[in-house]
Amino acid sequence: MATHKLFLLPGDGIGQEVMAEVERVIGWFNQRGVASFETESGLAGGTAYDTHGEAISDADMALADSADAVLFGAVGGPKWDGVDYDKRPEAGLLRLRKDLELFANLRPAICYPALADSSSLKRELVEGLDILIVRELTGGTYFGEPKTITDLGNGQKRAVDTTVYDTYEIDRIARVAFDLAKTRSNRVASSEKRNVMKNGVLWNEVVNQVHAESYPDVELEHVLADNCAMQLVRNPKQYDVIVTDNLFGDILSDVAAMLTGSLGMLPSASLGAPDGKTGKRKSLYEPVHGSAPDIAGHNLANPIAMIASFAMAMRYSLGMGNWAGKVEQAISATLDKGLRTGDIMQDGMTQIGTTEMGEAIVDELEAIA
Ligand code: NAD
Repeated sequence: MATHKLFLLPGDGIGQEVMAEVERVIGWFNQRGVASFETESGLAGGTAYDTHGEAISDADMALADSADAVLFGAVGGPKWDGVDYDKRPEAGLLRLRKDLELFANLRPAICYPALADSSSLKRELVEGLDILIVRELTGGTYFGEPKTITDLGNGQKRAVDTTVYDTYEIDRIARVAFDLAKTRSNRVASSEKRNVMKNGVLWNEVVNQVHAESYPDVELEHVLADNCAMQLVRNPKQYDVIVTDNLFGDILSDVAAMLTGSLGMLPSASLGAPDGKTGKRKSLYEPVHGSAPDIAGHNLANPIAMIASFAMAMRYSLGMGNWAGKVEQAISATLDKGLRTGDIMQDGMTQIGTTEMGEAIVDELEAIA
């Protein structure tokens, strides 16, 4: 049996509590002998700053670089609000994304049947929802230069952000989206603003080229980003995979996220390019939520987003899609039993804590396996 090397960066606040529940699930796999995981843990964010004076150390970066997958909790908290900009907790996460060249961000929006009533949309619109937003993560408006605020000297200032994409950046994210669509319902919607932006024109052109050259069997549609936002709240189930740039992806993935209920339920993955020799991609898996200082340390955090992130690692980095499905099934079965953490609590359900939710999911896994 192959041994998978996982590098765990729990981070700050509830990051540590939810990571402990992933370790419980990993422990179950090792104990049952159905998989072999070797784990090492490091420091990221505020806890790294307190120990090393920086948001992630070079030694931990090296461990992240050599792991089969990095699992990341969450970073930040009021304790570090005054820390220098380049040493602030988020700098650790940004360095990981940059140094590992994690250009593809995958944000699934899955609506568990038991939670369909917590969505802001009607049950029939979201029940069974399973879409995947593929967001370009390392280019576009957030990183383009020039990026300035200039004092014009007449009481006015001018802010400039620059949206820049090269062909290769659009090409590689489009390939990730098409490849993923082939493992799902074989449909991609590409979203940009070609009606008003040159970046949209090039995006559209390159996606069409990649499609014609390498993926003619995948169904492709183009949707303007503003229309895509409307369609997501009007009829989200029409989509399978949506591929889009950094800025629109940031917004569209948050819209899609809220269709499913709570922040505590949302996993994500960030992937790099396949290695020329092994074909393996660098990868980092993390819940969408932050470190939630308001509830940290009280056994109140929902560990499902973190456990579902581990399931994504099994599917996309470890060749264990079958077991990923079983972990997701165990989460669903736990919710079907009426067990809820505070953030997803509903009338008539039973409220439990972080550790009890982790234990319940492992019990369901044991029952399914
Ligand atoms: P947050 O996601 O930490 O919390 C927002 C709200 O959702 C809070 O009320 C919190 O209690 C609740 N919540 C979040 N996750 C939950 C979970 N798993 N279970 C139950 N409830 C949950 O966002 P915030 O309050 O804006 O930020 C808090 C800190 O986290 C800040 O320092 C921020 O910079 C940081 N942050 C980090 C990341 C990251 O590490 N990727 C992401 C977002 C925010």
